[in-house]
Amino acid sequence: MSQSGQRSSEGPVVVVGAGHGGANLVALLRQEGFSGEIVMFGDERHLPYHRPPLSKKFMDDDLLRQYLRPEAFYGENGIDLRLGAVVTTIDPQACTVTTADGEEVGYAYLVIATGSRPRQLSTPGMGSDGVLSLRTIDDAARLRTAIEHHGRLAIVGGGYIGLEVAAQARTHGVDVTVLEREKRVLARVASQEFSEFLTCHHRNQGTVIRTSVDVTEVVEKSGSVAAIDLADGERIECGSVLVGVGAIPNDDIAAGAGIACDGGILVDGNGSTGVPGVFAIGDVTRRPMGDGFMRFESIPSALEQAKRVAAIISGARSPHPEVPWFWSDQFDLKLKIAGHVHLGHSSHVRHDVNGGKFGIFHLDESHRLVAVETVNASAYFMAGKKFIGGADVLDPDALADPECDLRACVVR
Ligand code: NAP
Repeated sequence: MSQSGQRSSEGPVVVVGAGHGGANLVALLRQEGFSGEIVMFGDERHLPYHRPPLSKKFMDDDLLRQYLRPEAFYGENGIDLRLGAVVTTIDPQACTVTTADGEEVGYAYLVIATGSRPRQLSTPGMGSDGVLSLRTIDDAARLRTAIEHHGRLAIVGGGYIGLEVAAQARTHGVDVTVLEREKRVLARVASQEFSEFLTCHHRNQGTVIRTSVDVTEVVEKSGSVAAIDLADGERIECGSVLVGVGAIPNDDIAAGAGIACDGGILVDGNGSTGVPGVFAIGDVTRRPMGDGFMRFESIPSALEQAKRVAAIISGARSPHPEVPWFWSDQFDLKLKIAGHVHLGHSSHVRHDVNGGKFGIFHLDESHRLVAVETVNASAYFMAGKKFIGGADVLDPDALADPECDLRACVVR
């Protein structure tokens, strides 16, 4: 891939997608002093908004519409924001994009920030009205209405969407059952200890969590969702269903333009697609990370990519690479995770898991810290993230002793 994706033609920076990646990129471009034209397309009709409250605070109407910036920001900064505008094709030879309305816009630089969409299941009954997924403000509003009208919620998928929604719904007294296909929740992204702690915490708050289950049918009665059937013959009564079984990258327009895609748009560490002048950032991308190429769907990851692309386009200095991280809020728990848990060879718990405040430090075979999972322990998270960035080697025994200062755990 080209190092920077630099090109020289005239024209605006065109950003396709107005989520966290795209909307922060245009602001960063102005912050870095870029004075050229900027056009940003967003397929939703809402101003760019904060996504975390959609799963963490969706029962609170006031918290749903939290815009990233006020409407005036875009006009004042010369950003031509086109909402409700869907880009359908990219022509990298002509350096143009075309919208569903047939409008053609030329670009000097193109940044694809089209995000991802919820994966759907083909299980019988999944097409029913009471079966919902969660990605947008409108989805979150639908979910709240469904819960208010029908009570009892069944959630298919024990990932971050499923657990955050479960916590929010339980906090509002809703009966919730989480149905996870794997042996444990967050099986792909979290350690066994972390999954077990969370499962226990959710259960203590009254959430029913069922693992190793296969959903076979969503059952309707009089046109409404009434239950979910499981392969073992059990029937779970519910009034609505939320499906949170992962996300599919919106890479179709990139693939259609001949841009390399493989489960997401393939980019280098600078967000370059290898096609001159064409970058991609956020959930739609797969980039070099950990021990291979990964799609790391988190807001900090999208922001980091936006910073790097903004620096390249505006000729500013590139920021240092960041350690990948993300956070989650569930009940009274502030979860913060950095690095890649699957690269760990041994794990070391600092403080008691049952105390509700702890860190799990994951070391590789050379005792380098590769990941840290923390619960209500920001100091452990900050230190761990720094150690991961520095490829620091830690002393496992010292790590497990909460009396030992964290800095003193670093061997070299
Ligand atoms: P996710 O994190 O991929 O979790 C989906 C879970 O559902 C996985 O455990 C998956 O197991 C399981 N699953 C898949 N098919 C299933 C089936 N048929 N029945 C039952 N369980 C099934 O996806 P998500 O929770 O839908 O979230 C979507 C994206 O948004 C993710 O990338 C997530 O990280 C991101 N997100 C992030 C945050 C945050 O950073 N705090 C919050 C919300 C969402 P397998 O692993 O076997 O497929």
